[in-house]
Amino acid sequence: MKLEGYCYESGSAARRMATFNVEGIAFNLMVGDESIQSGELSELSFSERIGNTPRKVVFKDGSVFETQDNNKIDEVAFVGGNKYSISRRIQMLESKWRWALTSVVFLVVLGYFITSVMLPWAGRELAFIVPSKVNETISSGGIRLLDQKWFEPSELSDDKKNEIRESFTDLINTLPNSEFNYKLYFRNIGEANAFSLPAGEIILTDELVRLAENPEQITAILLHEIGHVHHRHVMQQVIRSSLISVAISMATSDLSALEDLVVVLPVFVLKSGYSQADEIEADAYMFEHMVRLQMNPIHFANVLQIITQDKSNIDGTTLKYFASHPETSKRIENAIRKSNEFLGDGDVF
Ligand SMILES: [Zn+2]
Repeated sequence: MKLEGYCYESGSAARRMATFNVEGIAFNLMVGDESIQSGELSELSFSERIGNTPRKVVFKDGSVFETQDNNKIDEVAFVGGNKYSISRRIQMLESKWRWALTSVVFLVVLGYFITSVMLPWAGRELAFIVPSKVNETISSGGIRLLDQKWFEPSELSDDKKNEIRESFTDLINTLPNSEFNYKLYFRNIGEANAFSLPAGEIILTDELVRLAENPEQITAILLHEIGHVHHRHVMQQVIRSSLISVAISMATSDLSALEDLVVVLPVFVLKSGYSQADEIEADAYMFEHMVRLQMNPIHFANVLQIITQDKSNIDGTTLKYFASHPETSKRIENAIRKSNEFLGDGDVF
């Protein structure tokens, strides 16, 4: 087989017309009548086929033969049992696999990093710079939706509601320069529960009010919910979910994911997707203010115990307060510890 092309001898910049002859596994490179290279094909390396770029045959001493004859070069490389080319192909396959695996691992790590580090961080940072107007818009939209779909009007007596409203107003007045406009709502959903919305709306259910044995227990629950508002837990969750929706919309060009944002809030509030860290933070806020108001933290332990033991909250699907407030027994223990500290402090005076 004969291939026409040019040769560049090692150490020389000169380009000379040359003929590359192949016979079996032997080759011979001729410039005119002169043989300048000869040997076996296995000693050579061949450049990969990339479109129509000239192919290179590289000799042991670094000399190069260049040709446009792609097909013949492929044949020569194959006939010569070109180990270099085959092993290189295997190498490429291996590196492709390695690359694919690395990519998958990288994506998993990146996904984990984004959801468990970046989003919570962004949620925390952004929740505190969201203008109060946004909080109010989301809240009023949220409470409208909750009223339409899930909440029933309260059946508590006006006397009872007024009594709690009064102590709520007193409680709010004791809070140091709050940037929230706290409001109290009474609703009926057939179970003992309490919710809060980002602009400071606190919702107590009839069942919770009925189960509470004294005003202090209700104050404890109110302070816990105010703690969620103060630390902007709902807003943080809304922002996290929003960022995910926005990211999905951008990645898939599907704008309908953005529409989900409208229903994020009520669903979040009802399913109470607070993390345990959020609950602990809201509890800490509550204990701090109970102690400040000279109120024994034991009232929180008691009201939690009453709700857990109440039959209507244990059967069926009505354990939501505790689904939303996990590790209840730990929190009861914590309240008892705070109570002991509180009583211990009291002895000093
Ligand atoms: Zn909570």
